Amino acid sequence: MKQEKVLTPLEIYKVLEKSNCKRCMLPSCLAFAAAVVGGQKKLDDCPHLSEEVKNALSVKLEKRSTAEPRQAEVMGKLLQEVKMLDLAVLAPEIGATYDNGILSVRSLGKEFHVDSKGRMRSECHIIPWVQAPLLAYICHPNHQQITGRWISFREIKGGIDWLGLFRSRCETPLRVLADNHPELLADIVDLFLGEEVEGFDADIALVLHPFPHIPILLCYQAAEGDLESELNIFFDECCGVNLHIKSLYTLCAGLVKMFEQIALKHY
Ligand code: SF4
Repeated sequence: MKQEKVLTPLEIYKVLEKSNCKRCMLPSCLAFAAAVVGGQKKLDDCPHLSEEVKNALSVKLEKRSTAEPRQAEVMGKLLQEVKMLDLAVLAPEIGATYDNGILSVRSLGKEFHVDSKGRMRSECHIIPWVQAPLLAYICHPNHQQITGRWISFREIKGGIDWLGLFRSRCETPLRVLADNHPELLADIVDLFLGEEVEGFDADIALVLHPFPHIPILLCYQAAEGDLESELNIFFDECCGVNLHIKSLYTLCAGLVKMFEQIALKHY
């Protein structure tokens, strides 16, 4: 399936005044561009954009939302599928535990508990981004252990079809965030029990576990001289077996949204 061409933060940034005047209540025009793509800000929040420019951008933003997976529909199907599963048998296969009718799955260091009807509770607030991908992880027909081999999104089955969305909703906004808030990635390690790793061509490389058998690697290189900054997200080879590409995309887009909210709140 080919996806619509969608707006990236940089496309929005290009048409902004670039004065970093902060009237949109954000520290910079780049942060504003990322927030518009992430859905936390509206084009109207920048008083310097002309109606003409706003209209042109709005059309593209609408195209983006219709290209995204339909969350409510997906959730309904997943809830039906969970009811058919034997959670006790499934638990060890997916790196979870089972006790007294409840499956417990660790996500970024926090426990999420799922019952036989797919109802979820957690010690922390249940964030919508985690719900559908977590149920998809539980319901996925195949499960593979972690391999230790990292591959790009493009190398995962179906990845090429979702690459445009993945770049514009995951890698680009996260790079903009890391550019604007150099402390963010180190804070993510602390907040979400991530692990800084060596041996990659990057200023910072960190591994996160959104789900037990879904390790992801974030590599960030800050801008230097004429070289632009770079941020790449890699996946353990098992990710393509343990989760459908759509769910993997939804998971990463949700993670980036959550990081944007953390940045907006704390920096
Ligand atoms: S109000 Fe507009 S020009 Fe000012 S910082 Fe925000 S995006 Fe940039």
